[in-house]
Amino acid sequence: MTGRVLGPDDPRYADFTAGINQRYTAKPATVHLPRTTPEVASAVSGATGRISIRSGGHCFEDFVHHEDVEELVDLGGMSEVDFSDGVFSVGAGAKLQDVYEKLYRGWGVTIPGGICYSVGAGGHITGGGYGLLSRRDGLTVDHLHGVEVVLAGGRTVVVTRDSTGAEADLFWAHTGGGGGSFGVVTRFLFAAPLVTPPSEVLVAALSVPWADLDERRFARLLGGYARWHDEHRAPDSPGAPLSSLLMLNHRGNGTVGLVAQIDAAAPAAARVLDEHLSAVLGDLTTTGFARAGEFGPMPGLARPRRLPWLRATRFLGTNTPVLNDPTLRAEHKSAYVRNPLPDAQVRTAYEFLTRPDVTNPNAMLVAFSYGGAISAVDPAATAVAQRDSTFKLLYQSFWSTVDADAANIAWVREFYRSMYAGTGGVPVPGEVADGCYVNYPDADLSDPDWNTSGVPWHDLYFKGNYPRLQRAKAHWDPDDVFRHRQSVRPAGAREGPCPA
Ligand SMILES: Cc1cc2nc3c(=O)[nH]c(=O)nc-3n(C[C@H](O)[C@H](O)[C@H](O)COP(=O)(O)OP(=O)(O)OC[C@H]3O[C@@H](n4cnc5c(N)ncnc54)[C@H](O)[C@@H]3O)c2cc1C
Repeated sequence: MTGRVLGPDDPRYADFTAGINQRYTAKPATVHLPRTTPEVASAVSGATGRISIRSGGHCFEDFVHHEDVEELVDLGGMSEVDFSDGVFSVGAGAKLQDVYEKLYRGWGVTIPGGICYSVGAGGHITGGGYGLLSRRDGLTVDHLHGVEVVLAGGRTVVVTRDSTGAEADLFWAHTGGGGGSFGVVTRFLFAAPLVTPPSEVLVAALSVPWADLDERRFARLLGGYARWHDEHRAPDSPGAPLSSLLMLNHRGNGTVGLVAQIDAAAPAAARVLDEHLSAVLGDLTTTGFARAGEFGPMPGLARPRRLPWLRATRFLGTNTPVLNDPTLRAEHKSAYVRNPLPDAQVRTAYEFLTRPDVTNPNAMLVAFSYGGAISAVDPAATAVAQRDSTFKLLYQSFWSTVDADAANIAWVREFYRSMYAGTGGVPVPGEVADGCYVNYPDADLSDPDWNTSGVPWHDLYFKGNYPRLQRAKAHWDPDDVFRHRQSVRPAGAREGPCPA
């Protein structure tokens, strides 16, 4: 590990102690940059204080970059993607775009993961990552075959879908139980045959000027998105090969945006895409995609375009100016949605997205397709309990200076609390909502000031799957070596969040 164990005096220290969200910084005594599993094991076994695991550094909360962290293990150097004996191996430190490039170039396959190129496999897959192919092909964890994990004390195990007893629990805990609770994943294993991505996709990106939206038209837009997803929720729906993002930016942005992609070889693909655009946009005036949500301008996609899949994936994954800002600060909250939103929630969304005291163009509500093939899997088959939702909502704001923290955080918090006013300020699983996505973590869910529902944070993320996660935790990490603010608590431990 010569040169790859850093202290605060090392010139590289600052690069490895903050994530994409500059609100969070760690001050570890030691940063480990391992390249092999034995080097990870040695870092873990020699650790004398709180350990933090980082792959892509995209965590929405301070789980990785926390001031109490004493040893930070950064997996970025373990990014190999390989295939042997019928099994694909993906290094936990690989960035999603590298995973897509290498799997496709090497073997013509992929995993149905997220859009942003720089998200790390380590956090993404352990949290049940999903993306634009998930309505067609399911979640990343639906294809996971095994994981190599370095446990507390430094022992390394490989557990798979075929494991039994406690090892089966450990594998299952890695199919959506969230990162940072059980050990350090060094490699993810996917058995062949893996997903074959579309050869080509049809992609469209359109904006609607806020000037053309009043409350009625806004309600039709969001209502149209929800209704289309409700009608196309089934795995065999003609709409299953299509996914889209509706980016409802605050009016200060000037536009809202819709980005949609469908497998070009799907039956009647052009018609299904056209019907989706009409269902959402109706007769609203659209323009070429300006800048909405995380994305930069996409003028060439104002009409659906046929693109090779990898080229489209590369473009959408890197065309994210907000996220490439090295001074980025952010706040996020999430909700799964089962059924079209009640009128009261649509009205609340309109109210917050038009609030005159907010001027940040990067304050937004994003709706992201779910459903389709995702819903073909039993809620207990993986740790991802939410299987019958049709889309997710992501409440978020991006900004870049400390003095803007309070106003942005307050806007996201108040928006969310108002949306779920009837259920204690959070999306309690019920007829419309179905809890929160663990890969969009939110510390407020375990804060009694912000969650007054009586439903604990872990039930919002994991619902009935939490006891099995606790059983795995009690067996594999009973001393709670791997912990953060919302890590899985060992069975029998006191309720509530971990100490920060
Ligand atoms: C810009 C952006 C776009 C996103 N887009 C999507 C999307 O399209 N779809 C989607 O599903 N999600 C998306 N996400 C959420 C993303 O999946 C999560 O933030 C994910 O946890 C990030 O993983 P990471 O390795 O980059 O993060 P990190 O900050 O490194 O880690 C996140 C969590 O996982 C743990 N962890 C990391 N590596 C390991 C490991 N090797 N072993 C065990 N635990 C580990 C950490 O301790 C931490 O708790 C997005 C996030 C961002 C910031």
